[in-house]
Amino acid sequence: GIGQKNLLESLGIDIVYDSPDVGRKMREHLGFSMPHKLEKEQGLNHRFRGLGLIKSVLQYYLTRKGPMATGPFEIGAFVRSMPGANRPDTQLYLGAFSYARTNDNFPVQLGHIDSEPGITIYGQLLNLTSEGEVMIQTNDPKVAPIITPNWLTTEYDKKAMVEMVRTMRRFVKQPSVTDYFGEELIPGRLCENDEEILDAVTRLSTSGLHATGTCRMGKDLTSVVDNHLRVRGVESLRVADCSVMPTLISGNTNGPAIAVGWRASDLILSAGTTQGS
Ligand SMILES: Cc1cc2nc3c(=O)[nH]c(=O)nc-3n(C[C@H](O)[C@H](O)[C@H](O)COP(=O)(O)OP(=O)(O)OC[C@H]3O[C@@H](n4cnc5c(N)ncnc54)[C@H](O)[C@@H]3O)c2cc1C
Repeated sequence: GIGQKNLLESLGIDIVYDSPDVGRKMREHLGFSMPHKLEKEQGLNHRFRGLGLIKSVLQYYLTRKGPMATGPFEIGAFVRSMPGANRPDTQLYLGAFSYARTNDNFPVQLGHIDSEPGITIYGQLLNLTSEGEVMIQTNDPKVAPIITPNWLTTEYDKKAMVEMVRTMRRFVKQPSVTDYFGEELIPGRLCENDEEILDAVTRLSTSGLHATGTCRMGKDLTSVVDNHLRVRGVESLRVADCSVMPTLISGNTNGPAIAVGWRASDLILSAGTTQGS
């Protein structure tokens, strides 16, 4: 019963508190992978498929070493893509592996590793302005909600995604790495002007898996929780997860989620002390 009055009423749920931003203001990083052929090296594809995969798994179990002992992307960078940006707006990841693709004239990455050596640069747009939402669709808590990310619905985000792809292309041309990058497989060299790049990222981008904001913290009365993480309109209920972040953070969310948990425990303990409980 805590949420948007109209929605709750339409689903026959009694209103406890009309909190209009519950489930709204969702922001989520948007990622785009650009696999290339790998030159001069074997890379990791042969260690992630067939007999090579068995070898990698055995190596990990016996020695705790090898490709299974680390994350797939071993290189990361925070860079500025948008002209005039005063802080990084793009997160780059680089790994010597690639997924296979469909063979049509608009290739899509598949869920299995390529048989040829590959190298992938993955970019994630950090400061998106598009806002999505998560909404219940029935009064049954077991029914999945409808998640509407609304990505690329602002001009800033569209331009930033295009600039991010151009930044990734500049990166692979740097002298220290360019000899290892062969043909760009996705989106491919035929995808050159802004419209073509935007079309490719609209079709092929993926969730950064870093959703925030659906129970945003704030001082204003429409925020869902106050600055002690207390849910407005009820007693003794707090939220302590990524949903309280008022906006997106410029990086991965796991560490910050843990930090919110730490802070929540301090707040709860100090509230208990002041209330004498
Ligand atoms: C596939 C994937 C890969 C990721 N990789 C990275 C990474 O490499 N680095 C990084 O920093 N971040 C990564 N993230 C993001 C990071 O894991 C999340 O941002 C973070 O775990 C969010 O923490 P949270 O506490 O907000 O939510 P969650 O971890 O989702 O915790 C929510 C909890 O609430 C429980 N719950 C839900 N509904 C109810 C209910 N009604 N009653 C009781 N309990 C309920 C759930 O079971 C769950 O345990 C990744 C996310 C995904 C999905």
